[in-house]
Amino acid sequence: MAKIGINLSTGSLQKQEMIVGIDLGTTNSLIAIIHPESKKPVVLKEHDGTALVPSVIHFADSDGVIVGDKAKDFLVSDPSQTIFSAKRLMGKSYNDLYNHAKLFTYKIIDDGTESLVKVQVGERFYSPIELSSFILRELKSRAEHILKTPVNKAVITVPAYFNDSQRQATRDAGKLAGLDVLRIVNEPTAASLAYGLGMNREETKMVAVYDLGGGTFDISLLRISGGIFEVLSTNGDTYLGGDDFDRVIVDHWLALLGITSTKLNTSELQSFRLMAETAKKQLSTTDEFTGEIGIQRITLRREDLDKLLQPLVEKTIASCANAMLDAGLEVGEIDEVIMVGGSTRVPVVMEAVAKFFNRPVNDNLNPDEVVALGAAIQADILAGNNKDFLLLDITPLSLGIETMGGLMDVLVPRNSKIPSSASRQYTTQKDGQGSMRISVFQGERDLVKDNRRLAEFNLTGIPGMLAGFPKVEISFLINADGILVVKARELRSGVEQSVEVKPQYGLSDKDVEGMLTDSFSHAKQDMQVRALVEAQTEAKILLDTTENFLAKNKKLLTELEFSETDSAMTNLENLLQKGGKDEIQTAIEKLNDISRPYAERLMDQAIGAAMKGKNIGAKNQ
Ligand code: ADP
Ligand code: MG
Repeated sequence: MAKIGINLSTGSLQKQEMIVGIDLGTTNSLIAIIHPESKKPVVLKEHDGTALVPSVIHFADSDGVIVGDKAKDFLVSDPSQTIFSAKRLMGKSYNDLYNHAKLFTYKIIDDGTESLVKVQVGERFYSPIELSSFILRELKSRAEHILKTPVNKAVITVPAYFNDSQRQATRDAGKLAGLDVLRIVNEPTAASLAYGLGMNREETKMVAVYDLGGGTFDISLLRISGGIFEVLSTNGDTYLGGDDFDRVIVDHWLALLGITSTKLNTSELQSFRLMAETAKKQLSTTDEFTGEIGIQRITLRREDLDKLLQPLVEKTIASCANAMLDAGLEVGEIDEVIMVGGSTRVPVVMEAVAKFFNRPVNDNLNPDEVVALGAAIQADILAGNNKDFLLLDITPLSLGIETMGGLMDVLVPRNSKIPSSASRQYTTQKDGQGSMRISVFQGERDLVKDNRRLAEFNLTGIPGMLAGFPKVEISFLINADGILVVKARELRSGVEQSVEVKPQYGLSDKDVEGMLTDSFSHAKQDMQVRALVEAQTEAKILLDTTENFLAKNKKLLTELEFSETDSAMTNLENLLQKGGKDEIQTAIEKLNDISRPYAERLMDQAIGAAMKGKNIGAKNQ
């Protein structure tokens, strides 16, 4: 493990070290760097010239994990063990995905709660963070192979609308893959950087970034001024992209051939899909496509494709109009329109966007690569190589609080600019809980016991409420002098308490270095402990709520329902102490499966609410 050098006053890292830029996409991912000689951003390519790594993970029976093109083949032959679109799951609960559940051919766990989703593959459960880390690990190892040097630091891009927990999940995925994530950058910001926008500190520009990928569409409006990128508005559709283009082409062909799609098996359907994608791509540069499926000759003309895609393209334009409205901008005020994502190569898309914004679009750079290229530029700025950019003061270590099971919940990630602020809501775990202990920590490890304790205080006077009802907002504010103010406020009653600390007090460069190094050498182990603690916490809460539920509603259950519940609870209780996370998770699923039917039948709001929300440990009460 290499030592990580960090200059505390500037936050810059030791020079000469390669920092890569990563576009972690829903459909495809890739890496770019600043070329050491040309000083220009370039994407890393394999010998055969491919740069894109499909964001697909296949879990082979032999315990092996395959990522990329090879994994893609298993989408047809082994869909339940092959994960795509993991990015869509980041920071999501099952309830968030409910309406789109049928799109996923693998098993997403339905907890019926607000807790984060997990994916079940055989006997194992994976968090979206773990899934993304497999992709990042593959990218890291490809980069190391191509560059013939260790790659330990990265800038990773995320959509502008990603919330705090989705960003944190992306950081965690990086850490788990052995990458020090120096900065999470918005995709539209990265794309703008790749086009050289923001490099001139004197000018102010309004930029529209139109990003149409494989499964998602985003429009972001940015104001770039004095080197600062401000997102004015975002809009889009998280379920609209090139895959939908392929689908309408398949439907068109099947209609022409008089075939109903339900008559086709998955592999036949998949052949049509692949052919549709080929046709679509070819028609981005030609007027006519001809292909064969079996003995069937199929064709598609540009003008027919244009008609087929028109309704989908119009949807994206409606989103653009909404984004403009939200930002309070007129079309004439937009200075640049940047095209991002493979699907913007489709001529009707380009034409429609140019028409809407009433100006030519910027598509000089490869739309697949532009986000990664921008990430590489951002990485170079952070490395201190770009003298045009001033480095701001940053927090050298993450700041957060202790949550149930002694876990660290980060509010301000390391490398955040100073001044900075963040807040998050928590709730109580016990009925009538009148106080809550807030423990503030600094560091990168998953368990607070391995981090540095900065402060501790009690929020008292919370009026008696059922567990899950109080809304305690914890806010962190770091001012320009590096003083951290932590405030806890129960929003229903207004009771509040706060504390002030200086996180950097008594902390040497060497300490920071040591803490960072430790967090990398323990990343895997920490993640496992975290997953176990989270499973245990989930189990405890489920046992508590089920018990409460039974106490109130027992007579409304059938005898069989009760006895099955009772034995599932006993099983879970036993596993709580000595079981592994997958065993506990399986037992949770079992208890959920048993109680779901009658809980839904009888669910009263109190229980529904009690099952929601994060809990701060009751162990300190
Ligand atoms: P994401 O950002 O979601 O990871 P990408 O930007 O890599 O996705 O876009 C992938 C999509 O771009 C796929 O639907 C693919 O079919 C489409 N695509 C790639 N090249 C072309 C092309 N030449 N013409 C039309 N669509 C294309
Ligand atoms: Mg993308």
